[in-house]
Amino acid sequence: MAEIPASPQVELQDVYPWTGELDAVTGIPPRKALDLVLPVLLRRMGTDGLPMAALMIDIDHFKKINDKWGHGTGDAILAHVAGIIRETAYFRGEAFRYGGEEITVFLPNCTVDEAEVVAERIRRSIFVNPLEMEVGNSSEGGSEIPLAVTVSIGVSGFPDVEGSELLVAADQALYRAKNEGRNRVCSYSPDISDDGGNVVIEVTFPAQSLISEGSYVILTKWFRHRQEMTEIEAREISDPSRGVREIAEGRTPDEGFVTAEITGRVVSVERRKDKTFFSFEVKPETLELMFDHLRDKSR
Ligand code: GH3
Ligand code: MG
Ligand code: MG
Repeated sequence: MAEIPASPQVELQDVYPWTGELDAVTGIPPRKALDLVLPVLLRRMGTDGLPMAALMIDIDHFKKINDKWGHGTGDAILAHVAGIIRETAYFRGEAFRYGGEEITVFLPNCTVDEAEVVAERIRRSIFVNPLEMEVGNSSEGGSEIPLAVTVSIGVSGFPDVEGSELLVAADQALYRAKNEGRNRVCSYSPDISDDGGNVVIEVTFPAQSLISEGSYVILTKWFRHRQEMTEIEAREISDPSRGVREIAEGRTPDEGFVTAEITGRVVSVERRKDKTFFSFEVKPETLELMFDHLRDKSR
């Protein structure tokens, strides 16, 4: 494995490591901190012409973990994973809770190649270090069982990717890591955009879907106000004149829900017994708008 080069060349002590308030669940810096730190980092890296990488990390099949062990145990696993991430990245950068069980890491002075090494170290460390959970009554000699989880990681780098696109690009790479089987690191490559500069998003649909190639779909990311993001949903629309650039906000009957929606064209569909994988083409600026929108709404 390649060595991670030593010591950053830029003094970042006023922004990194984060010395402010930590997120109550994960024990790492919260989203609020990320929003403060990121512009400072980008400005500095940009001024000095230095690289910086971003990692977007998401726990694999975390819903199943919650379903099986309960939300409290889910929280304990999330804190365990977040701790490993922050510790592993510590000498090179800082980790932030992006939202839900998604954690982002910024690595100032790291190229994408160097960041891949850090990401792989994080992935492996989580893979080999399950949370030891006490079960049974300790006075009767309760035992510990290992609760193993894996993570998928997307990597992107500045200045190859513009500052404002860094997280979108890392998220796109994360989608690829998920679609390629999870428990892996993928780097952003502009190849996942087609010639027209559109971004192809790969979506796994947890059911059979009738959506067909060439049709237009509206992709909705639901989440509860001030809480974690939940499902991505997609439904076919009949009117392609809504175009590939659309963003909307709405409330479901459940008070407090907000959504972000984008419309795009389905470029491929693959059906399995209980799942549908399809890729979906949208303009990069649409995706960026959606992320900005979700970011604002999750505050
Ligand atoms: P995937 O491999 O595709 O990521 O599958 P997933 O089940 O992890 O799917 P996704 O990332 O979309 O789901 C995130 C789930 O994580 C939703 C919610 O149940 C859970 N989650 C989010 N935030 C928290 C939290 O703070 N605590 C707990 N216990 N669960 C959380
Ligand atoms: Mg997940
Ligand atoms: Mg997630």
